[in-house]
Amino acid sequence: MERKTIYLCLAHMSEQGLEQQYIKEAFDTNWVVPLGPNVNAFEKDLEAFVGENKQVVALSAGTAAVHLALIGCGVGPGDEVCVQSFTFCASSHPIKYLGATPVFIDSEKDSWNMDPELLEQAILERKAKTGKYPKAIVPVALYGMPYDCEKIMAIADKYGIPVIEDAAEGFGSRYKGQVLGTFGKYGVLSFNGNKMITTSGGGALICPDEKQKNKIMWYATQAREAYPYYQHEEIGYNYRMSNICAGIGRGQMAIVNDHIAHHKHVQALYAELLKDIPGVHLHEAPNADYDANYWLCTITIDPDVRIQGQENAYKETVKSAVGGAAGVIHQVDSPTTDCQPNENIEALRVYMLAHKIEARPVWKPMHKQPVYANCPAYVNGISEAIFKIGMCLPAGPMVTDEDVAYIVQTIKEAIV
Ligand SMILES: *Cc1c(COP(=O)(O)O)cnc(C)c1O
Repeated sequence: MERKTIYLCLAHMSEQGLEQQYIKEAFDTNWVVPLGPNVNAFEKDLEAFVGENKQVVALSAGTAAVHLALIGCGVGPGDEVCVQSFTFCASSHPIKYLGATPVFIDSEKDSWNMDPELLEQAILERKAKTGKYPKAIVPVALYGMPYDCEKIMAIADKYGIPVIEDAAEGFGSRYKGQVLGTFGKYGVLSFNGNKMITTSGGGALICPDEKQKNKIMWYATQAREAYPYYQHEEIGYNYRMSNICAGIGRGQMAIVNDHIAHHKHVQALYAELLKDIPGVHLHEAPNADYDANYWLCTITIDPDVRIQGQENAYKETVKSAVGGAAGVIHQVDSPTTDCQPNENIEALRVYMLAHKIEARPVWKPMHKQPVYANCPAYVNGISEAIFKIGMCLPAGPMVTDEDVAYIVQTIKEAIV
């Protein structure tokens, strides 16, 4: 039988087809707009899930949630924002949308997330250099792993700086039992097609109270003043979630706990099957306080592990669309840059793909991205080191036990 490609994290719908039922309801009642019963009910579901008396606004994307959270913290031109460097670009790009400057903070070795010591050093140094404290702090739950919520919140409180938790990858992860996204002033969630649950595309912002929820909702709907005609005194955005997408989200909320349990199950299987392979290490929670959803399972590979085809790594430029459904090809001239994964990692990626397994490098740290070359960065070398040896493995609800066994077997075969 022909083997189907095993993708990193594919969307997975409820067995009962709840998503389609909610969408049908939206059509039947003619709520085909960016507001409506599905949006309201999805927000209620999310509020019940995250707890802590939080209010949630459903938005068109996680990136929009980051953007509006920054606005909610008063970030504007000339301000600085401390953001985890080891992340997907959506954590930092919205800082630039606002004419502010990201100050990149490197990671801790164990969690791979924002290093509290570097954070405090950055806060003090930025204050000394610019006369102002950074306007917000953005830690990121990389691949679903919690950051050190206690230490980061303590530092934030000490200097009176609001925290925007980027829990886009960490939906349902917990730190000491509390859901990520509920520690800071705001919490960002993403429901893109490859996240823990999906609305096809979408996101949400967890807000501290009704007042903040209204403020964020107002910015998300073009910031209209309460007149019978269109009166605008501030700049707004068209960021509200569609009632169709929210219908998908409502259906997904019925199975979100199953998804999380499955991701954890896949992680446990990798742990068991990978443990005897020399030089290959699974990234795991530092201790029991860190309850990761294991959105993606990640490994690191020692530089001396040799992979079949390694001599051909990086010999050709990428000709097809690189990861991401948009499928845009922005052709480059050289197959290499000054900072990239080791050749054995690239060789393994190619080997896996030839065996119908999608594996990807871990995020390239933002302080190593040319577009952010001029931004301040507080660096200890950890994220750059992990970038060179790290790899993401398939983990979604569509990945079976047999798939995991095949993936691990393929890794074994790839090693020379
Ligand atoms: C996915 C993601 C986001 C937001 O993404 P959208 O695709 O806009 O929903 C933000 N931060 C991180 C770290 C992410 O992985």
